Amino acid sequence: MRQYNASKKVLVTGGAGFLGSHLCDRLIEQGHDVLCVDNFFTGTKRNIEHLLDHPRFELMRHDVTFPLYVEVDEIFNLACPASPIHYQHDPVQTTKTSVHGAINMLGLAKRVRAKILQASTSEVYGDPEIHPQVEAYWGRVNPIGIRSCYDEGKRCAETLFFDYYRQHKLRIKVVRIFNTYGPRMHMNDGRVVSNFIVQALKGEDITIYGDGQQTRSFCYVDDLVEAMLRMMDTGDEVPGPINIGNPGEFSMLELANKVIELTGSKSQLMRMPLPADDPKQRRPDITLARQELGGWEPKTQLEEGLKKTIAYFDKALSETTAG
Ligand code: NAD
Ligand code: UDP
Repeated sequence: MRQYNASKKVLVTGGAGFLGSHLCDRLIEQGHDVLCVDNFFTGTKRNIEHLLDHPRFELMRHDVTFPLYVEVDEIFNLACPASPIHYQHDPVQTTKTSVHGAINMLGLAKRVRAKILQASTSEVYGDPEIHPQVEAYWGRVNPIGIRSCYDEGKRCAETLFFDYYRQHKLRIKVVRIFNTYGPRMHMNDGRVVSNFIVQALKGEDITIYGDGQQTRSFCYVDDLVEAMLRMMDTGDEVPGPINIGNPGEFSMLELANKVIELTGSKSQLMRMPLPADDPKQRRPDITLARQELGGWEPKTQLEEGLKKTIAYFDKALSETTAG
């Protein structure tokens, strides 16, 4: 476990989002001062409301496409909508968030000589021909499609990180996150795990896009956060990129059936058109993560993680109904 002798000032952009809020929790637990920056596009104060009165936690409403002047030791750059329906809602803003956001946060890191981690994504591999995906694979990404604002935005952010590393000797860390799920995912964010669980709990049809044979590998949020913290603590010779994810690979049909089984739902499967450029398969090769992150290994397997996530949505839905 990550231990500090001295507390650090840590900036988390996108800190009120799904992953960011869990990261803030862990950083506070470890004794750091946390500055959470968010424009609340997809994040919500509810995700961090338990931290608002904490003396070492500070929340700032700010859009990372504008410069930020603060004094910090480390930056976790997570600000960016992650679900296709949210990042496609305002694609120009999505690219700006990735690219201008990266420029602003890298500029800040350069000024205060902070270490900076970028939450990149398996989407940099696009619809991959190499399976499982290794970091050395350059990807197969459509530059002009509906997913491009996110995929190319994240690719350009990686480019900027590595140019600041080479040109300004900045201490950078790039992690490529594969589909991650867990409590505090946005109830209506359209990602597959939240969609299926909410549909199953409400007894609605489960929406299978395409034939449901496409695969994803699902990582539970706690495993992901542990890996990000370990990555930040690696030596300067480890800039990344490093894949983080759980190599267990499932088709969307398998996921739907698992969710129905675990919720005991009577929901039926309903076929919907496959969105454009939807990757057919995705599984991380995590050899590098195991090697560089002190034997890190995802600990929570799908069934256990789904049970915790179902319990979260069950409670959230009953509160919505009661309210
Ligand atoms: P999320 O949508 O819950 O969180 C993103 C947060 O960023 C939200 O709180 C949102 O309000 C904030 N944000 C968006 N634009 C902003 C802006 N311009 N300025 C300030 N804040 C802004 O999504 P998440 O799943 O928590 O993803 C967090 C990060 O991890 C994202 O960068 C995403 O690309 C990356 N990632 C996530 C996954 C995953 O499966 N969850 C996979 C790959 C990469
Ligand atoms: N998907 C689905 N039904 C849904 C939502 C998503 O079948 O209600 C599919 C989607 O087409 C994709 C996979 O699930 O193949 C994962 O989608 P998600 O949006 O969660 O993540 P991404 O495509 O970015 O990996």
